[in-house]
Amino acid sequence: MHFRSIKIGIKGSHHKMPVKGERPTWETYFMDITKLVAKRSTCLRRAVGAVIVKDKRILSTGYNGAPSGIEHCIDRGCLREKLKISSGERHELCRGIHAEQNAIIQAALHGVSIKGATLFCTNLPCSICTKMIINAGIEKIIYATGYADSLSADLLKEAGIETIKINTGS
Ligand SMILES: [Zn+2]
Ligand SMILES: [Zn+2]
Repeated sequence: MHFRSIKIGIKGSHHKMPVKGERPTWETYFMDITKLVAKRSTCLRRAVGAVIVKDKRILSTGYNGAPSGIEHCIDRGCLREKLKISSGERHELCRGIHAEQNAIIQAALHGVSIKGATLFCTNLPCSICTKMIINAGIEKIIYATGYADSLSADLLKEAGIETIKINTGS
């Protein structure tokens, strides 16, 4: 019998005993998980993670990358990258799907309602994702970095989606 051991752990993390007062808040907890999800990204430009949460439960996760069974930009190259297209433009030229879209699709695939849920994302959603988020019934967005483009900001405001920036420092 041959056994293979795999070292599992997050770089830089230590297994310390919990200290009272050092427990992460729910927001920090879910944002740290969102940042971990982003590490699975296969985008050449930016690693983005999204986690959909309701009643302190994770309903769905997503990162940006090519659809299932389709070669990733990291393996095949990305047309947006090759043509040096600016951030936020010509998304249709990339093989990848955005993290937020993948999280919504995962919920649909497994028949999970995300109505009234909160979306945690490493970056503020683009306008395409924002439109999907509105129709998926997501009511709140908690993000770590980025600025909404003017269309996203207008749409979020008009839809009454609460948008909160948090800094978890990791
Ligand atoms: Zn790409
Ligand atoms: Zn997007």
